[in-house]
Amino acid sequence: MVSRGIWPYSWIMFADLLGALAPRDCVGCGLPSRDVLCKDCDEALPWAVWPMARLFEGCDAAWFYGNYDGPVGGMARRAKYRPDPSCARALAGMVSQAVRGRVPAVDAVVPVPQTRISTLQRGFSPVRTVAASVARELGVPLVDSLERTRGVQQAGLDPSARAVNAHGSYESSGPAPRRVLLVDDVVTSGATVSSCAQSLLGAGAENVYVLAVCDALS
Ligand SMILES: [Zn+2]
Repeated sequence: MVSRGIWPYSWIMFADLLGALAPRDCVGCGLPSRDVLCKDCDEALPWAVWPMARLFEGCDAAWFYGNYDGPVGGMARRAKYRPDPSCARALAGMVSQAVRGRVPAVDAVVPVPQTRISTLQRGFSPVRTVAASVARELGVPLVDSLERTRGVQQAGLDPSARAVNAHGSYESSGPAPRRVLLVDDVVTSGATVSSCAQSLLGAGAENVYVLAVCDALS
């Protein structure tokens, strides 16, 4: 009786131990790693956000934290597509440290909302996780000013389809803060942040700055 009761529990513990010790791929370089990032990729993480070379309609300026093909992009993809809330929280901590002293004073941080189906599938929003951490760092409120009213995920669409999909897909749910830091995970064509900025400006915002976790074109 005792052995039958203990064996399954021991096996579960053994399986957990194997899982903890088993190497898995680093999301940055693909090499085996016990952690999400291997030591080299962890040491290669950016220490600050950087201005984006491109400007987006309706936005005053934009910054990004990392490249889509590097460790930051790997973490963003893992947080979004696995989905992995702990990875999103780790990324949020990195971005919020990197933003210190790098962006203008703002009145609020606003996350780019994801589709409702994505919220149902993931159970959380990786972008909102990052935005909340950045808001805490900047000492300003996180404000969910925007609603995703239609459209599908931008990933997989070509630039012209992105523009059509994003246009008019975001609406302000009320008066917008005056100076906004708009946070998104991956900026590619900029169609999404431009559409969001237009809605915020239409709702009373005077300045919209963009913070992207990844610039897909850098
Ligand atoms: Zn690596």
